[in-house]
Amino acid sequence: MLYNSTRDNSLKLTASEAILKGLSDDGGLFVPEKIPSFGRSLSDMAEMDYRELAYEIMKLYLDDFTKEELTGCIKKAYGDNFDTPEIAPLSYADGRYYLELFHGPTIAFKDMALQILPHLLTTAAKKNDIKEDIVILTATSGDTGKAAMAGFADVPDTKIMVFFPHGGVSDVQRLQMVTQQGNNVSVVSVDGNFDDCQTGVKKIFNDLEFRKELEAKGFRFSSANSINIGRLVPQIVYYVYAYCTLLREDKIQEGRKINICVPTGNFGNILAAYLAMNMGLPVEKLICASNMNNVLTDFFKNGTYDRNRPFHLTMSPSMDILISSNLERLIYFICGRDASKTKTFMEKLTTEGCYTIDDDMKKGLACFAAGYASEDDTSAEIKRIFDDTGYVIDTHTAVASAVSRTLQSQGVCKDDVPLVIASTASPYKFARSIVSAINSDTDAGNKNDLEMIDELEKIIPADGNMPEPKAIQDIRDAKILHDIHIGINGMKETVADFLK
Ligand SMILES: *Cc1c(COP(=O)(O)O)cnc(C)c1O
Repeated sequence: MLYNSTRDNSLKLTASEAILKGLSDDGGLFVPEKIPSFGRSLSDMAEMDYRELAYEIMKLYLDDFTKEELTGCIKKAYGDNFDTPEIAPLSYADGRYYLELFHGPTIAFKDMALQILPHLLTTAAKKNDIKEDIVILTATSGDTGKAAMAGFADVPDTKIMVFFPHGGVSDVQRLQMVTQQGNNVSVVSVDGNFDDCQTGVKKIFNDLEFRKELEAKGFRFSSANSINIGRLVPQIVYYVYAYCTLLREDKIQEGRKINICVPTGNFGNILAAYLAMNMGLPVEKLICASNMNNVLTDFFKNGTYDRNRPFHLTMSPSMDILISSNLERLIYFICGRDASKTKTFMEKLTTEGCYTIDDDMKKGLACFAAGYASEDDTSAEIKRIFDDTGYVIDTHTAVASAVSRTLQSQGVCKDDVPLVIASTASPYKFARSIVSAINSDTDAGNKNDLEMIDELEKIIPADGNMPEPKAIQDIRDAKILHDIHIGINGMKETVADFLK
């Protein structure tokens, strides 16, 4: 299996090379030359546990990894660090299935990929005879930084430094980061906003002289960015796992189609579902759910992607995105792998912020449905599901839940097709919005994040269904280990210090 760039079909990299490189030099994203089919029947795969299934799927994409290498990575990634051996359990509530992707160390779905990426990266480095240590620099507006740190902590031959905007993240997010253990991690708060942090990181990446200096000292920069195929491929696994769980539990017959609804930001998670479908997973509709930043809803409706619109800060912040970078891969697939056409669209996106696909390409979108939920819709959905069933969902999941309900009522998605909703974060992570949605009498304005978590615990039924995750217990009593605070011009020096 070789990988092309979405902007250059003549490029052919092995999987490990593509993982190491992250993004192609031409600005494109790496895509497999062809989407493989499952090597086994779904009922065979239904007998497997999460790790066995992960190997079964990932080996088809990462075929230059040996069996020992890949199973080694999988074993390190999906074990006791998750709070359930199922890794991605399926909960039934209100007539639909919630695929819980938040049982990892940082209680959000980014763990599903970021727990394994560091191991894939270091294995890829060894295979390609790279001697330098891998250094990850990440700017974060909250969640990704923590998930990346948790993944890389104490992974040999790697170091990670995360920059976050001072005063620009929630209490819980800050505490999660500054209490991170590991001898190779560092967290820095920067006087500036997220964009300043991001720009600073890009500058350091592009500083060739600095890179050479560090290379001489045995370091090499890499990225844990969501466009890396090393993050995409592990995400295919849980969609297949969800289907296999339904089979195993006799909820469906093999071959029966399901609908999958994904709360979408960068289009990574839903693209993984699209790949699963193209590998042979029986899917009728992939539902792309957005919040008020509904650029994708419009794209699926009329074929025009237009980022020229107001940006909304919502209660589902991980979906507050106007440029969904992974969409480039879908564009490439639906235009028949025409790299120069893809490149033209993406250049238009950069220069004009807008492009329109043609009718032929629109046919490739037939398997998608799309919709968005307002802030009120989202709160109402959290409350409705809780009042009706006692099940508590997070704000991102609620966007998906609300959108799929609307599409069902409009007949766009059939009621009698089993529906799986990707549940991307633990409600504990967004306790403030969730408590406020369920109980509008809560005096939220006078309570800090941890007090809001206490409020949530009063609400969540005490039947042991959703105990306080370890990630929350940790921030209640963990020591602050990082207190570096710098100005925006101090980032490069801070990196140099860290790597001394
Ligand atoms: C990142 C994230 C999303 C969006 O996923 P994409 O792959 O970027 O589309 C949704 N929900 C949560 C909680 C996230 O952290």
